[in-house]
Formats: sequence, structure tokens, C-alpha cells
Amino acid sequence: MMKNIKKPYYGAAYYPESWPHEQVPEDIKLMKQTGMNVMRIGEFAWSNMEPSEGSYDFSFLRHVINELDEADIGVIMGTPTCTPPAWLTKSHPEVMIVDSHNERTTHGARRHACPNSPVYREYTKKIVTGMAKAFKDCENIIAWQIDNELYNTGIDGKGCCCDVCYHKFIDYLKEKFGAIENLNKTWGMYLWSQDYTSFDEIPVPRNNVWHHPSLNTEWMLFQARSYKEFSDFQADILHEYLPEDVYVGTDMMPFLGLDYEDMNEKLDIVQFNHYRNSHNLWDIALWSNYMRNIKNKPFWITETATCWGGGVACSHYNDKNFGIANTFLPVILGAEANLYWLWRTHWSGQELMHGSVVNSWGRPMHIYNELKYIKEGFNKAEDMIYNTYPKNSQIAMHVSHHAWTLYMFQPMINGFNYQAAYQNDVFRPLMNCQLRPDVISEGLDIDGYSIVITSFVPCIENKGLNEKMLKWVENGGTWIVGPMTDIRTYEATKYIKAPFGMLEDVTGVKLAFTLPAGGSYDMYDNKGNVLKTKSNANSYDAYIPGKSETLYEYRNDYLEGYSAITRTKVGKGYIILLGTMPESDSFAKFIADIASEKGVYPFNASGNVVCQIRCNNISNEERYFACVEVENREGYACVPFDCTNILTGNEYTKDDKVLFKPFDVMIFRKK
Ligand SMILES: [Zn+2]
Repeated sequence: MMKNIKKPYYGAAYYPESWPHEQVPEDIKLMKQTGMNVMRIGEFAWSNMEPSEGSYDFSFLRHVINELDEADIGVIMGTPTCTPPAWLTKSHPEVMIVDSHNERTTHGARRHACPNSPVYREYTKKIVTGMAKAFKDCENIIAWQIDNELYNTGIDGKGCCCDVCYHKFIDYLKEKFGAIENLNKTWGMYLWSQDYTSFDEIPVPRNNVWHHPSLNTEWMLFQARSYKEFSDFQADILHEYLPEDVYVGTDMMPFLGLDYEDMNEKLDIVQFNHYRNSHNLWDIALWSNYMRNIKNKPFWITETATCWGGGVACSHYNDKNFGIANTFLPVILGAEANLYWLWRTHWSGQELMHGSVVNSWGRPMHIYNELKYIKEGFNKAEDMIYNTYPKNSQIAMHVSHHAWTLYMFQPMINGFNYQAAYQNDVFRPLMNCQLRPDVISEGLDIDGYSIVITSFVPCIENKGLNEKMLKWVENGGTWIVGPMTDIRTYEATKYIKAPFGMLEDVTGVKLAFTLPAGGSYDMYDNKGNVLKTKSNANSYDAYIPGKSETLYEYRNDYLEGYSAITRTKVGKGYIILLGTMPESDSFAKFIADIASEKGVYPFNASGNVVCQIRCNNISNEERYFACVEVENREGYACVPFDCTNILTGNEYTKDDKVLFKPFDVMIFRKK
């Protein structure tokens, strides 16, 4: 039976294995003073639990867990497979990751063991099983974290290229394609005499060779799946031994190198780590809007900075009160836990300059009062966090792990950066005009939205997204399809018969040609209104509309007379093709007009204030209007109902304009 640790969870990562044991009571006293109620431990402590092969000793961590328990502090227990001990890597060097130049890495870093190695799986099974058995009855362990920050890039960006991984990849291709001829045909390998006569001629795609993009893409998708399998392998063990109410998750980071939908398939709780600063904190609104949708329930922030990040050098000094906004932003958007990295600054090692709650000598850092203020705020926000959920804006946008992987090897336009495109060209303009979209990937539900934007997603075959979108449009949805979408197969090749996989057939709009970036081609409607286009890294589709409506057309140069934006009625809904990406303000205005036709309106607030309505879990009635200033400057928000700010007690009448100071957090409870 799990101990009832009160949500919201508030805490830090704790590494008692690197400090004298006598210090634990002092740490716990300080934790209580800060109001912390959860510590995350164990994630790198393999050598502490298994100092030599087969000699397991869980007594130290057990002791620490008991001491935390006595203080009513919960524990998130990490499996330590990110950092295998030296006796293991010495006796089995074959478990270590190999880079694309066939060089095997050495002991002492982290995330450097092969996810597919059967030997490593065996040792993983032993330590994880041992831990599960040793700690399963600890009532203050509320959750487990598998490994730490799994990612698939390896040493030089190509994951693990060892023999085990290579043969597993080849076996996968054999199963997928059957005959080598099918692979040659599907990837188009006849150019440059790249076609293979047998599967064992397929090379490991090295970094210094100009490989075929289909090979590279398939290889990295395979690498990502390997980490999912590695995580699943541990999840199965943990689920076998742990009580049902103890959650299992894995802490993920803000990048799309892994498919987070797939990663969480077997997991119980979405765990997320983020390190942002005053300049890019807004981006955590994007990731929070994604994290809460993965399992459609509250997620946990398992790591974030208290002040600065860093390794052997500090990075990013953050401005006053940054920590308050940084902590509350995910919480108003659906997180129910916030843990800092880390509790006490390390006295040694690769991260001894990273910011923390208390410094290496147990003295509170400069942000200590901010942390106490946050804890008081959490207490006041309990009802919001427990009993309400974030209401979506009716608008969603797609992000895609497949797209991320594909663009690694064919960006299509010089300088194109997928992450910058979905963040800066789609999400942020809408966020700044207070139509902040939900963020979803291919397999997630779309039924709760009226508008879905799919931009820069070259392949929409993945997980049946194309068919799903079509059905949703036929039922009344408005699908805005941005540039560089539906133009690649899953295999990262073009379609042979037409530029689009599906869109020409469905809309009757024909793509005459595409111009890459370079010129400047604004778009005009028939009243002469202009939509300005982005000036860099863009492409321009020239459409022949057929029976579809032209919303905007180009008027100059090669593009003169071609449609730039078309709208096609499909069933009860619409497909709008964007031939190019408007610049931020134009894009925001364009979407705002479509949204207002659907009865979707923005908040009345400055763009730097993230606003979120929260509804009661049972009645679905609007209960809170929660706001965080994220750009370290002044702003405002007009409250949508008569309300009280639960953090200050101040009362407001509907439509009152409330001024925000830099990094202000305000949570208004409806009267
Ligand atoms: Zn490997």
C-alpha cells in the first residue's frame, strides 16, 4: 500500500551515495524547511547497490528511504542503467556503445551502453529485478523512473553501431522487405549503383559517408525503437513486482529524437525534464501542451533548474523570479509534480557547477526564498492541481518524431531546421496571439479540436494519420496543411505519380511546381489584403486550384497567377492548403480569422502572458484562469470572469485588466 504523499509533488533529485551518510538527517531537515515532499534517488547508483558482480547490497538506499519515510517524504526510485559500473564494462566491454566509425566508447560517462546488447539486458534484468524486490514494500516510493534521459544519438549522432545493433537492423530489414529486391525498389537504390544483391551488403551508415537518406532514416528510426524496447524491457520487470498504484515512467527531454507516444505505451506516468532560461522559457508551454496529451492525464516534471544549469561550468544565469515562472508554467498547463535538479550541488564530478536547492555545504542558494514562495503557492493551488484540468484551445498542431528523423538526412531546403519551424513559425505566433495550440503527434486523439494544423510533416502515412485526418475533416474539422507536408513516403522518398501522397486526390488542387527559398513572394486575397511570407528558409508551392477556392494568390515573378492558399470543402469540413508559411503576425491573423469563424476566440492578454482556463474534473465547469509571464517583461491579462487571485487574495471583476510584472504568476479562482 502506497503512502499518501500529498500532491502536488515538490522536490529534487538527491544523491546521498556521494555524501557521508551522517549528513542525511541534516539534508532531510533542510528539505522539510523548504517544504519538499518528494526526492528522486538511485538513478546513477548502480555501483553502490552492486559494488562487485553479483554482490547486491541495497541496505544503504534502503536506509535513506526509511529516513525519508520517517519525515513523510516520498521517493521516486530510478533504475541505474544509464551508468553501468566499471567491473561490468571491464568484464564485458561489448556492452559499450560503438560509434559510426566503429570505435567503442570507454567507461565513465553515461548513456553509453548498447540498448540491444543481450549481455547488457541480462545485467539490467538482474539489477532491476533486485531493486524491485528489495524496495517493493517501501510505502513511500510513489513511482519509479526507468534509466535517465534516454536518447538515441549515441556518441556521434548515429546511435549504437555495434555488431548486435547492426545484425538486429539487418534482421529487421529482412523481415520488412522479404527480398532484397523489394528494398532496392522501395528506396530507389539503382542510382549510383547503390543496389544490393544481398542484405549483408548493407553498411552501417557512417557519419563521414554521403549515404542514401532512406538508409539513414531507417537506421535512426530503428535506433529510437531500440530505446523503446530497452525501456519496455525494464517496465515489464517493474510491473511484475511493484504494487499497482506505484507509477512507472521514464524521464524524457524536449526533443523529438524518440517517439514519446511509443515510449509511453507501457508506462503509467509521463515524466519530463526541461532546462530553459529567460530567453526560451516560452517553449515549455509547447512541451507541456504535448506532455499532457500523451496519456491525456497530468504529467510530472522530474527535472528542472532552480537557477542555472551547467556541467563543469555554470550556464545561464537566470533573472530574478525566473524560478517561479519556470516552475508554475508546466503546473498551470497540466503538471502535478515539480522536482528540481538537484537537491545539493555535487562536490565532485562532471556536474559540480550545476545550480541546486542548497549548495555543496548545505547552505541555501540565492533562490531559496523563491522556492519557499513556490511551495506556498503550490499549497494554495492544490484544488486547481487536484480537481481541475486544462481546457484546450480547440486548436491543435502536429509534431512528429518521423519528421524529425527524416529532416536529419534531407532538410529539403538549405538551412531548414524542423524544430525552429514548428516552434517559431507555428506554435509561437499562435501563443503570442493567445490562441495557443495543443501539441499532438500522429497517434494522438484529434476529436476534441475544431482546427488542426499539420505543417512541415513530410510523411502523413505514419500511424494512419492521413486516413484519420480525412475522416475528421469529413465530420466537420478544419485541417490547415502547411508547407512540406504529405510530400514524402514513410521510406523518405518522394511519391512517384504526384507530389502529394493524398492531398491532390482529396482536394483536386494541383501543385504546378515548388520554388525553394530565395525570392520574396507575398500573398494577396481578392480584396487586395496582403499576407506577408517568411523571409528565410521557406518554400513556395504554386497551386492550380481546380474546383477549390483560392483564398490567396501570388502576384509576382514566376509565381504570378498561381494560388498560394486554397480551401476545399470535404464532407462537412475544410482542407486549407498553405503553399508557404506566412510570417508570424500574418500567420496569427490568418488562423485567428479561421478560428473566429469556428467560434474560437483568443484571450485578451499580452503575448508574453501564458493563459490557461482550468475546468472541474467532474462538472467540466470553468473554475480557474491561470497565468504566467514568460518573457521577463511587463504584460497584462483581462480576467474572463469575476474572480479572486488565490496567491494574493486580490479580487477582480470580469474584464478587469490585470498588470503583470516580469515572471509574475497569477491564479484566478472563479467566484
Ligand atoms: Zn549496439
